[in-house]
Parts: sequence; structure tokens; C-alpha cells
Amino acid sequence: MQLLVAGKAHPEDKAGQAMIQQWTSFVRLPQARQHAAFLSDSDMLLTARLVQGVDVWINTPRRPWEACGTSGMKVLVNGGINLSELDGWWAEAYRPGVGWALGNGKEHGDDPAWDAAEAEALYKLLEDEVVPEFYTRDGSGIPRAWVARMRESMALLTPLFSGNRSVREYVERYYIPLAAAYTERAADKGAAAARMVKWRRDIERKWTDIRFGEMKTKSGPDGHWFEVQVYLNGIEPGAVRVALYAEGADGAPCEDREMAPGPKLVGAENGYVYTARAPGDRPMSDYTVRIVPLCEGAAIPMEASRILWQR
Ligand SMILES: *Cc1c(COP(=O)(O)O)cnc(C)c1O
Repeated sequence: MQLLVAGKAHPEDKAGQAMIQQWTSFVRLPQARQHAAFLSDSDMLLTARLVQGVDVWINTPRRPWEACGTSGMKVLVNGGINLSELDGWWAEAYRPGVGWALGNGKEHGDDPAWDAAEAEALYKLLEDEVVPEFYTRDGSGIPRAWVARMRESMALLTPLFSGNRSVREYVERYYIPLAAAYTERAADKGAAAARMVKWRRDIERKWTDIRFGEMKTKSGPDGHWFEVQVYLNGIEPGAVRVALYAEGADGAPCEDREMAPGPKLVGAENGYVYTARAPGDRPMSDYTVRIVPLCEGAAIPMEASRILWQR
């Protein structure tokens, strides 16, 4: 087995430089020389050769520090197999049969005992699984189990983790809808765009005039009931969205229940009573009323990021 380490440390990254130094002294040891090398000045040219040449790509960040791990994805199309910490992309991509995983997907800070346990797990994987699988050959010299793993990795992962997929997704989810939105806004000498600019100016100018009034709540067998007075003052009710908001419990998505404007409050400019119902399976105190800008075709909060919470 040959271990190649490539990398570089930022000039300010003293700890990283020290690690590289330790590694370069290690590879000079006579007993390491045949099996370990350090490739300095890691760049795209070197990376291209590495991802094309290696059989196993090892990435051992401490969770949660791997931002993504694109280099592991570059290995896929080249038939390389990943052996990495369950962090970044590998936490999403790993499944048995496509490669090997380190760690338990949880964070352990810089606990030296955990580092040691993971190092041990890495050596064990290499010795007990990776090396035997690579060197177990059939009559024609083909490592059958290895090739099966390679095929599994390429078949399952390349369609999901590739530049093709991400560019296609950008085009379909963002660029095409944006081009369509532009056409819509520009039509009729920019009539829709002009309307939106006016809406946005109004929101900016008058947002701080919005007030919450009296709030009434009740709970019963059919859940919670919320009733709140909102004084929009100069803002039209169609220019905002009033909603009942609750964080998602235990990783569930958040709840965002639109509140309907009811009777107009007498004597107020754009004052309304807004109401909503929420299920009784979580405490009433989980819910807060909030107001955000609203305009057909506008991307919220990118184009208008105001938000008002009822305290
Ligand atoms: C792919 C690549 C990286 C990113 O590698 P990660 O493992 O995702 O951090 C950095 N530098 C070069 C030159 C690369 O080609």
C-alpha cells in the first residue's frame, strides 16, 4: 500500500504548517519511504493526476469542519473509492457497498481519545477490509469484490454528485425561473417591475409604522385560536403576509400558518383583526405572529427582507 498526502497550509495557518512538517519528517524515515510520500504545492494539475490515479481517496476531517469535500466527488468518475469521515458530502453520499466510512456522524470536538479511536478505526479498515479486498484476485487477476464496489460507487453516486447535476439544477431551479421573471417584469415597458419598485419603496418607508394591537387567544378541544389586531397604517393589506410561526420540533420543518384578515378596525387606516387556528398538540407559547412583505412574483426575503415579530 502506498499513502500519498497532498496539501498546503495557508501562511497564517501555523497548526497546518506544523502538521505538514511532521508529515515530511515522517516520510523521510527509511521504514516509511517505500510506502508514504508528501506531494507539496497541491493545485488543480496535481489534483487532476491524483484523482485519476488513486484507488482509495481518504479524507479525515474532524466533524463538522469538512465544508463539502468536492475532491471525493472528483474521484468517483475516475473509479476511485472513498474512505472518509461521515462529514460534508460523504455524510450524505455514504451507504454500505459504495466505500467506507469513518466516525459515527456525530461531533466530538478535539477530544484526543476520539481522535485516537478514529485513527485506530482507519488502520483497522485499511488492514482488514481495504487491502485484502484490493489484493484478492481471481484467476485472471481481477479483484472481483473491489470492482463490484467501484461499479456500485460509480452507478449510485456519479449521477448525484457531479458538475452536470449541479449545473442542471442551477439552470432548472434558478436561471430559467429568473429569466422568466425578468421577461415578465420587463413586459409592457416594465409595468410589473415599476409596480414592484413602488411596493418595495412603500415597504421600506412605512414598515416601522406597523403596530400590533390587542392579542386574544384561546385553547379548546379543536386546538388553539389566535386573534390579533394589526395596524398596517400606510401599507395595504395585500402588500404583507401575516402568519403564525413556530419552529419545527425535533428537526421537523417550521410551521408557517397564514392568518386571514377579518373585520376592519374602526377608525384605523388599514387596521384589521387577523385570525388563525393551530393544532393543540404543541403548546400555544410555541407560536409567534410575524409579518413579512408580500408581492406576487417577488422573492422573499431576498428582495424585501423586513420582518416584524409580535413580542
Ligand atoms: C478539489 C480541489 C480542492 C478542494 O478539495 P476538498 O477536498 O473539497 O477540500 C482544493 N484544491 C484543489 C486544487 C482542488 O482541485
